[in-house]
Parts: sequence; C-alpha cells; structure tokens
Amino acid sequence: PLSTSDPIEDHRICVCVRKRPLNKQEVARKEIDVVSVPGKGVLLLHEPKQKVDLTKYLENQLFKFDYSFDETTSNDIVYRFTAKPLVQTIFDGGMATCFAYGQTGSGKTHTMGGDFSGKNQDSSKGIYALAAQDVFTLLSQRRYSSMGLDPYVTFFEIYNGKLFDLLNKKAKLRVLEDGKQQVQVVGLREMYVSSVKDVIKMIEMGSACRTSGQTFANSNSSRSHAVLQIILRQRNRLHGKFSLVDLAGNERGTDVSSNDRQTLVETAEINRSLLALKECIRSLGKNSEHIPFRMSKLTHVLRDSFIGENSKTCMIAMISPGMGSCDYTLNTLRYADRVK
Ligand code: ADP
Ligand code: MG
Repeated sequence: PLSTSDPIEDHRICVCVRKRPLNKQEVARKEIDVVSVPGKGVLLLHEPKQKVDLTKYLENQLFKFDYSFDETTSNDIVYRFTAKPLVQTIFDGGMATCFAYGQTGSGKTHTMGGDFSGKNQDSSKGIYALAAQDVFTLLSQRRYSSMGLDPYVTFFEIYNGKLFDLLNKKAKLRVLEDGKQQVQVVGLREMYVSSVKDVIKMIEMGSACRTSGQTFANSNSSRSHAVLQIILRQRNRLHGKFSLVDLAGNERGTDVSSNDRQTLVETAEINRSLLALKECIRSLGKNSEHIPFRMSKLTHVLRDSFIGENSKTCMIAMISPGMGSCDYTLNTLRYADRVK
C-alpha cells in the first residue's frame, strides 16, 4: 500500500498508472471491473470474478511501474508522486515534462486540468494548478526570491500536426528551428503570472478555447495534444520550463469505425506523435546522442525536454477499469511499459 511519506526516488523517467473508478454510465450498463492495483507500482488486468467465460479475451496480466494509483486515489496524491518532484528541476535550471496518456475518457484531463465536466468545473484540483501552487511557494522562499525569477505561462494545442495558441484565440503558429537546432514557436503568447489565481484563469481560458464549438460526441479535444508550460525566466533568459501535456486519446486507427478521410489522417498523425514520444523518452533514458524529435510536431516542440543533464520526465498512463475498455487498456499498459 502506498504511504504518502514515501521518499521520492531520484530518477529521470518516472512511469505510473492511474485507474479511474467506473462511472455512472458504466455502472448502469453493469460494466465489469477488470483492473486492480494489488501493490505499490503493480497493476493487474484480470479476468472478472463473476462467472463469465472471457478466457478468449484476456489472460491475467501483471504490469510493474514506478507507482500505481487505484480508483480511490486523489489528484493530490497522484501529483505528489509524479509532477511535484519535477518542480524542483525547473528551479535548478532544468526541463521537466509530465504526460497524461490514455484512451479518451480514461481521466487525462481530470488529472491534468481538473474537472471540466458540467457545473462542477474546478481546475484548482488538477496537476496544472497544483504544480503552479508549488512554483509560487518556491518563488517566495528566500533562496529563490533573490534570483530574480519570473514565472510565465503558455498554453497551446497540437492538432493534426499544427500548433494553435489557446491563449490567443487559437491563432495558428509556426515552429522554426535555427542552425543550432534551437526550436522556436513563433508568436506563442507567454503570459506573465503573479499568482496561482492567474494561472487558473489561463487554464480556464485556454480550456474553454480548446473545446469551443465542439460537440461532446465528436470532440476535437480528444484528438489533440494540449500543452501547458510554466516557464521561469531570469532577466528574460530562459531558466527552466515545465511542460504539462494532456495527450490525444490513443485509440487505434483500426478502432475507428468511420472511413472518413479526415479521421484517418488525424489518427495516423496521433499514432505518429505517440510513437515519436515513446522513442524520445527512451532516448532520454539511455542518454542517447540521437533523439528522433523531428518525427512529430509534439516532440519537435518539446525537443529541449529530451536532452541535457537536467531533464526529467514523468508519464501517467490512465486506465479505464471496464471490461469494454480492455483492448485499449492493454495497449496503454504495453506502451507505458516500453517507455522506460
Ligand atoms: P480524458 O481526458 O482522458 O478523455 P476525462 O478526464 O475527461 O478523460 O475523464 C472522463 C470522465 O471521467 C470525466 O467525467 C471525469 O470527471 C471522470 N473521471 C476521470 N478520472 C476520474 C477519477 N480519477 N475520479 C473520478 N472521476 C474521474
Ligand atoms: Mg480530455
């Protein structure tokens, strides 16, 4: 069982899984829970206890990660073991990234941005806001307050290999690379923030921009990556950057029933970027010289996060507990398993 006082191990790549509870609809259609978290870092995908013959679907599969969180775990605890240790990294002049990975509906946005479903919208409980809170706490400490560090926020979306500024009416942005491989997003709005409240305002503004004009059933937001960055500047020069990424749903092309060309193109692009991401994180883990960051727009924009002595990454793989999500869950677990 997870103790909240466990020391956080010092490693560059942390991979965790988070299981969400069955939701009302799933309970209503008597969806069977086939996921359990029997120990620290362990996740078991198992046959249901009910008497149903599902052997053709599934054999018990055990996966091991740095941490595993069951359906009773709060965002707060998930944060403490995943993104929180990375806040220090950006104060030390490094690059930090935290990715939420998983199928649509598995809890990525709930974990990162807080809950945007219906009336109970509360982004103060997501990892974005919790990380911002810790950034401001550290900024106010004496050892950092004298360094002249200023915090900024950017928030953008990558859809179909194109970048859109969520803090500037979805303006389309270009990504440029100079001779020294420095990657720049031209015209990306970087907003100065003076408190957590400011950051929450940006999160809510950007999230509203992200989902505007979309129906729930055909939500573009599940087909795009959203990237919130907390940037520390020292006399206008980049000191550290924390990128928090709500990834596009990892549904496979073959699962898309539509033959719609647009959907197929989108899916191919998402698959390419998730594959690129896995390869780039693996390169970081191996301290490899060759990082295939040009494989996708997502990894291109995050290039700096995959290089350097002082880069750290965390991936939270989100798991839907239902039998009906089994294939997706297995895909997610296999992906997360290979990241490290
Ligand atoms: P995704 O962004 O991966 O598509 P969401 O974060 O939108 O998924 O989650 C889908 C639904 O499940 C939302 O209504 C969300 O509030 C709920 N949900 C997700 N994770 C949890 C959790 N850990 N506890 C309670 N509800 C959750
Ligand atoms: Mg989402």
